[in-house]
Amino acid sequence: MSANNTAFQKCINPDCGAEFDCGQALFKCPTCGELLDARYNWDKIEVPDKLNNFAKRWAKRSNPLNFSGVWRFRQLLNFCDDKYKVTIGEGQTILQQNDAVAEYVDMWKGHLYLQYEGLNPSGSFKDNGMSAAFSHAKMVGATSSACASTGNTSASVALYAHTCGLKATVFIGSGRIAFGKLSQGIDYGAQTIQIRGDFDDCMRQVQDVCTKLGLYLLNSLNPFRLEGQKTIMYRIIEGLGWDVPDWIIVPGGNLGNSSAFGKAFYELKQLGLIERIPRMAIINATGADTLTDLVNNKKLTWNNGKVNQEIIDNYYNDLTARNFSPHTCASAIEISRPVNLKKCLRAIDICNGVVRAVTDEEILDAKAIIGRHGLGCEPASAATIAGLKHLRAEGVIEADARVACVLTGHPLKDPNVTVNYHKEKQGKFSNPPVEAPNDIDEIIKLIK
Ligand SMILES: [Zn+2]
Repeated sequence: MSANNTAFQKCINPDCGAEFDCGQALFKCPTCGELLDARYNWDKIEVPDKLNNFAKRWAKRSNPLNFSGVWRFRQLLNFCDDKYKVTIGEGQTILQQNDAVAEYVDMWKGHLYLQYEGLNPSGSFKDNGMSAAFSHAKMVGATSSACASTGNTSASVALYAHTCGLKATVFIGSGRIAFGKLSQGIDYGAQTIQIRGDFDDCMRQVQDVCTKLGLYLLNSLNPFRLEGQKTIMYRIIEGLGWDVPDWIIVPGGNLGNSSAFGKAFYELKQLGLIERIPRMAIINATGADTLTDLVNNKKLTWNNGKVNQEIIDNYYNDLTARNFSPHTCASAIEISRPVNLKKCLRAIDICNGVVRAVTDEEILDAKAIIGRHGLGCEPASAATIAGLKHLRAEGVIEADARVACVLTGHPLKDPNVTVNYHKEKQGKFSNPPVEAPNDIDEIIKLIK
């Protein structure tokens, strides 16, 4: 079945390069097992000659596809007909210039921007990807879906699944999910299965379950999800008056975002819609720093698609031998076997990217600063500001560069981490509540 002739799927392994139409739900190359990309026959798509032409759609936002921050850019992810497109109003997000946070990381005023994806319907960036992936699910006639999740994915999957009438099963690691996220998945009606293991265990199980039962897989190895996530970059460009920043900073977990962002910029450059590609910094937590170790220490690179698999295999074998389980307060990026590793290496190549790891203490302090001066965020999002602080200190990023940090999720996603940081005075920006007797004079004495 071919949905339209403007797009196809292609294996990222250059030695294979197998192609498939978009009417199939594959998720991995059936020939060689590598990741698949969505690719486009650009000559068959009416792409505007300038990015700011997309702005006209906002005036016609009574059409839900124009209101959507994903489908407003639909020619740039043209893999299905409009009748299959799913939207619940995702992508109404804010690019906030923030001078107080700029000061914290030693940048000039007016140069730091926070792309706040917590405003999405389920409170995280995942909704960008789900609107695209569920559109594909509808196109292929799927009736039942599944995902493995550190939390945000399950919330988003559950919300989109019930919106378009699909069943949803989410796999989570026992005790490794933030409370706000778990509450959403259950409330939105997904069947939730807690596996005794971590996210990487869940990821392995869900792939096998989907293959055996024919469920539609919604993790970020689904190439159509990444197509939706490209639009976060379009909206940053939109927020900057249709100009590109100098740097994009993004947390690194399963590496879907960084992969999608690199692809977005590559395509925009290829189409002549931007003149230069921004640089990208991907920030791990030190307790889940596979990418940092592989890129900075083991010197793993994209190498035109001929990635040195032996380095990866040895690394993962060592993790297994040590019975290693990743650990960080930033549960959204608590992943040690990122499924999009190779696509991320490609994005690093496209964007002349750098990778760093930051400690939980640095993440929590940065999170408190974003909360105090910005719109707040979940812990993983704050890794961007902690990472930027490192890169400023190293001189990798200049004080007058224009930097956009992607804040991936809403602060209420993980209230426990926030309350503990402040109440237990875990860091220098802790703001604990003060106990007062039930007496007006005593209360007044406490007010600063
Ligand atoms: Zn292949």
